Amino acid sequence: SQKGKYPERFAFYNLELEHNLRRKMTLNEALKGALERDEFRLVYQPIVDATGQIVSFEALMRWRYQEQEISPVEFIPLMEQSGRIVQVGSWVLEEACKTLAKMHKTNAEICMCVNISLIQFYDKGFVNNVNRVIERYAIPGHLLHLEVTESLFQSEQMMINEKVSQLQQCGVKFSVDDFGTGYSSLSVIQNMNIDYIKIDRSFIQHIEQKGLSIVQAMMNMSNSLNFSVIAEGVETEKQRQLLEKCGIPYMQGYYFSRPLERANAFAYLSTAIAEESSSEFA
Ligand code: C2E
Ligand code: MG
Ligand code: MG
Ligand code: MG
Repeated sequence: SQKGKYPERFAFYNLELEHNLRRKMTLNEALKGALERDEFRLVYQPIVDATGQIVSFEALMRWRYQEQEISPVEFIPLMEQSGRIVQVGSWVLEEACKTLAKMHKTNAEICMCVNISLIQFYDKGFVNNVNRVIERYAIPGHLLHLEVTESLFQSEQMMINEKVSQLQQCGVKFSVDDFGTGYSSLSVIQNMNIDYIKIDRSFIQHIEQKGLSIVQAMMNMSNSLNFSVIAEGVETEKQRQLLEKCGIPYMQGYYFSRPLERANAFAYLSTAIAEESSSEFA
């Protein structure tokens, strides 16, 4: 009968809630010393142009805790809540720039994309922090791309635009990550002074079934607002072809490469460069 069911279900949800809460508390505790214990590392996912040539890497955080890889989707929000993301984010920036500097020394114009959380961007020291890192590693500013989300532009527009333009004066580029998944009104989008939008994977996933109209609309909008476009989460050759037809200039996704461990990113790069220079003389 129906009668007995509700208390049981209620108990079930309670257990699940309790389990989730416990896990959060455990991870939070573990995150306190994770930086000092060297548990974080960065992996690097290639971004390619229309010809398939690599133009940049996106640095993505990994956390190995008790023999397990915990997803950034789980631990980044925890560090945002505790404020720890400010310190850890600055480690990410430094580490990514260290890699970028080394890549830059060995060769061409490769860019590095670094995800920046809102909390980190709001921090008073952020602009100085970026400037210091660029100087320390002697990186041309335009090779550093900061990925922020639409919600950054939602409030305190004066302060945000001021910080964005201070960094752009050093050449630093801005991308809006997960574009299309936020709640930005068109007027907010019009006032974003940014360089790239990254069309979220959720719009790319179904283009074979649903067609390209949304992607095309984002592409048209970007052209008139002078943003360039990166398609995220490209997984199949068919998707790549459709996006190419649409004129999307940059793509990223498992189809081209999964995120790579640092050493493998260097290997990927040197192969790419060898291929490029051999085709020049072909
Ligand atoms: P994101 O910045 O949108 O990064 C793209 C995510 O999609 C990455 O997941 C990447 O591994 C995954 N991905 C790339 N290509 C494909 C594909 O073809 N198919 C599928 N299914 N997935 C693909 P990851 O590494 O788990 O990172 C998740 C999110 O965590 C990132 O989303 C970003 O928001 C956040 N994150 C990662 N590293 C950092 C960091 O250093 N700082 C901050 N603030 N956030 C970070
Ligand atoms: Mg990103
Ligand atoms: Mg993204
Ligand atoms: Mg995304």
